Amino acid sequence: MTSFDLRKLRLRSGDQVRERVEIELEPLLLAGQEYEPRPNPVSAELAVSRASSGTVLELAFDVSLYGPCFRCLQDAELELALRLREYQATKPESDEERTEYVDEERLDLSAWARDSIALALPDQILCRPDCAGLCPVCGKDLNVEPHEHVEERLDPRWAALNQLREE
Ligand SMILES: [Zn+2]
Ligand SMILES: [Zn+2]
Repeated sequence: MTSFDLRKLRLRSGDQVRERVEIELEPLLLAGQEYEPRPNPVSAELAVSRASSGTVLELAFDVSLYGPCFRCLQDAELELALRLREYQATKPESDEERTEYVDEERLDLSAWARDSIALALPDQILCRPDCAGLCPVCGKDLNVEPHEHVEERLDPRWAALNQLREE
């Protein structure tokens, strides 16, 4: 878990600093499958801007997730470019004026990054947008071996006719 002590920046109203931070990430679970973030730890740029009313926190990083394709289970990669922003009021009067990632001037970078990755995920992670998936009849990968099972699709009336012919 990576956190950042905002106190050590000693910011006064009107100050802004940018820092390179290395954030440790946890694997993500999605539909029972595990997706591994790379690189891990990921290098991110943290910008902290302080005004008298509060602090604006911005975080930018690029990360890829590796795990099985939703359709064919082969390796899939998802690239994400995250540009995040949170606000912490000096004297918060409601939940909107407070970020859940700051506690006692400590910024929880791992939790912020993990939640943001989870929110940025598409419904399905695919090896490619037009992945054909697995054959529902025999389970073979339709990307490698495109095929149909013609026999099962025959109209039963034709099957009966063929039987008559054979007799
Ligand atoms: Zn696939
Ligand atoms: Zn098949």
